[in-house]
Order: sequence, then structure tokens, then C-alpha cells
Amino acid sequence: MPVLFIGHGSPMNMILKNDFTSSLIKLGKNLPKPRAILVISAHWLTNGTYVTCMEKPKTIHDFYGFPEELYEIEYPCPGCADGARYLIRSVQKTRIKCNNEWGLDHASWAILKHIYPGADIPVFEMSLDYTFNEWHPKPVQYHYDLASELAFLREKGVLIIGSGNIVHNLGILDFRNIDATPFDWALEFDQEAKSDIINMNHEKLIEYQNINGSYLAVPTLDHYLPMIYVLGLQEENDPLKFTYEGFQYGSISMRCFQIG
Ligand code: ZN
Repeated sequence: MPVLFIGHGSPMNMILKNDFTSSLIKLGKNLPKPRAILVISAHWLTNGTYVTCMEKPKTIHDFYGFPEELYEIEYPCPGCADGARYLIRSVQKTRIKCNNEWGLDHASWAILKHIYPGADIPVFEMSLDYTFNEWHPKPVQYHYDLASELAFLREKGVLIIGSGNIVHNLGILDFRNIDATPFDWALEFDQEAKSDIINMNHEKLIEYQNINGSYLAVPTLDHYLPMIYVLGLQEENDPLKFTYEGFQYGSISMRCFQIG
């Protein structure tokens, strides 16, 4: 199975018809039908790493101040308890734990709603270990290494999706204008990331602080780390395709790519 990185952006994309949402619909039509989907979510930050183990994950409306209709949307897909337990047994470097409370946050269902509108494929989620040690989060390299241990899922027909945003600064965004001209620093960081992805220059993306604009483009790691998982899963011969590129609100890169 291929691996996807999806820049999910604002929850508004659930109900908007724009180039970004059209690209997701197209993606769903072109992808092989997976046996299950594992989403690594920017919106599930935990102490340690968890996967959802429930049979019926609930749709979590984890956003505030949006139009009422967004809170009425459900994504009633089945869970993937067997896949979750298989993953837990197979990963050696770290102890991944079962979670029966979470469900699917909007990093998963807001994009799956467009990619697989039928909601008939089992979905499970994996959290990001956001443990701080002496004020520093776990190193980016840790996430990259953990991702490489998930490679076996691809051969089992599981579509792995990292869902975040390469550039994501909610403090500076132009919230009135989804089509705002992107900031220079945002463009610069996004372009550098693009060329490093093309050249498989993963080390540079792991040490993202050295890239121009990183201070503003990646103020926190939550939306950046899902991309690191996708890079950790990239094999030497995997073809690479950018399925969408663009910005929303001036400071959110909507760049999406597919490997394999
Ligand atoms: Zn988000």
C-alpha cells in the first residue's frame, strides 16, 4: 500500500468545495482499496504512544466556534481492533498501548469523509508521544525511527496516513481569508521541505530548526510530526507524488503527498 501525508488544515474543509477537497476526492478514486486505514494524528497528543482498539470509534468534534453543521457530521466507520493489537505486538522499540476511549478526531475523519465517503473501511488511529523531558519534547528522530517499524503494515494492505500540516501557525493566520497570500517565511519553509522530500533529504527535515523560517513555520511539533512518520516509512524505490500544494489563511501549508 502507498503511504499518504495529508495537510488537513481548518475543519471548514469538511464542508467546503475547493481545490483541496477536490484533490482528496480524486485521491480516494485513484487509490487501491485498503484492508484498513491507520491515521497518525496531529490532534492526539499523549504521554506514551497509543492506538485505538475499539470496534466502533466515535466521531470526535474536537474544534470550537465553527458553524453548527460541522458538529452534526459523523463518520460511522468500523474500528480495527485486530490491526491495533497486531501493531502493538509487532513494534519492538517502544511499548505501544491500547486505548478504548478516544475515537477519531478531525485529523482523521475530516479528510476520510472526502477520501472514502462510504465509511466502510476499518480505521484506527495512533497518537503522538508528546512527553516533555526537561522542557523538550521527544526528539524528532524518535518518531522517525518508530515509523520505520510500521512498514510491515503496508504489506498487509493497511493504508497509513500522516495527518497534520508542514507549515502550521495559528497565531499569525489571516482567519478572515482562506485564500490569503501566504507569508514569505511560510512559502520559503514549504518550498525547502518540498525539495528535501523530493531528494529524500530526511536528515534535514528531522533537524528542521536549521531550515529558514522554521521558528514561525513549526512553532510546535504536533502538526509537523505526522509528516516525519510518512518519511520514516519511505522506501528507496517508492515513487513520490504531490497530490496537492497550496496554502490556506496565509500560514497553513496544505501540501499533501503520496509515496508508493
Ligand atoms: Zn489540525
